[in-house]
Amino acid sequence: MVVPRRRKSVGLYIALGVVLIAVSLLLYAGWVANPRSVALLILGGLMLAALIAGLVLNTFFLVREIRLNEQQDAFINAVTHELKTPVASIRLYLETLQSREVDEAKRKEFYGTMLEDSDRLLSTIEQVLRTGRVGSSRYKPHLSEFDLDVLVDECVQRARTANQLPEEALSFKAGLSASVMADHEEIRAAVSNLIDNAIKYSGKSVNVAVETVAADTDHAIVRVRDQGPGIPKTELKDIFKRFHRVPGPTARVPGTGLGLFIVRSVAKRHGGRAWAESEGVGRGSTFVLQLPLAK
Ligand code: ADP
Repeated sequence: MVVPRRRKSVGLYIALGVVLIAVSLLLYAGWVANPRSVALLILGGLMLAALIAGLVLNTFFLVREIRLNEQQDAFINAVTHELKTPVASIRLYLETLQSREVDEAKRKEFYGTMLEDSDRLLSTIEQVLRTGRVGSSRYKPHLSEFDLDVLVDECVQRARTANQLPEEALSFKAGLSASVMADHEEIRAAVSNLIDNAIKYSGKSVNVAVETVAADTDHAIVRVRDQGPGIPKTELKDIFKRFHRVPGPTARVPGTGLGLFIVRSVAKRHGGRAWAESEGVGRGSTFVLQLPLAK
């Protein structure tokens, strides 16, 4: 309940700032309207301008500070949960293995689950580290020329194996046959995020189509289309913000709200764009990553 309380206080600070500006305007208007000399009039005007500028700046910094705190809360809430859950699960399995005899089949099952949990843990840690890297201009992308079709195909194969999906549940149509000059690791992370989301939010009936096409003579497009829960139109922009998760049923699916921030940051770092399209709730989603082609 921390976020709504903070939101209320942002409103309060803005209102306070506005009221203060209005009061000082009224006070000075009364004084300036009855000036005793031109010099005083000018001095009063300058002071009034300085006072208003100070109040505006103060309100601006206050709001920025509160937003930053909000983001930190969201980060702690989202990431702590995603870190704690798999660790708690691994610990439980280890305790069971330590405290009693477990037959071979069960033991194998436990090891499998522990491996899945440690993968989840690693992927959360990777997301957090990558968010820091792609969000900072200090880290430059390592550019190399590679075939985008090949990279997307690798991402699709990996997702198929990891989620044990048949080809018809996750299809890929390579329609580009062109190279991009980009950071291989970053593009792989961005494409994998889109594919993983499409699978994750589709639940039990996965029907995801991935394709690469040329948008025009200078740009390539990777398109990931699913038949999952869809996204309300009002959320299509906000989902790319750091830590933003759509409230409602999809928020029950585990996640940190970092994946799409990474996708958009990676696109921007390469002079490209990323956006989402959806006809609304229950009508699937399409995510598009547009990247410039190698010259
Ligand atoms: P995460 O999946 O960890 O929450 P993302 O940044 O990848 O973080 O996604 C942000 C939000 O966008 C998700 O919480 C979800 O509400 C929504 N979203 C992303 N991809 C899809 C999708 N394919 N279908 C429906 N909703 C999606």
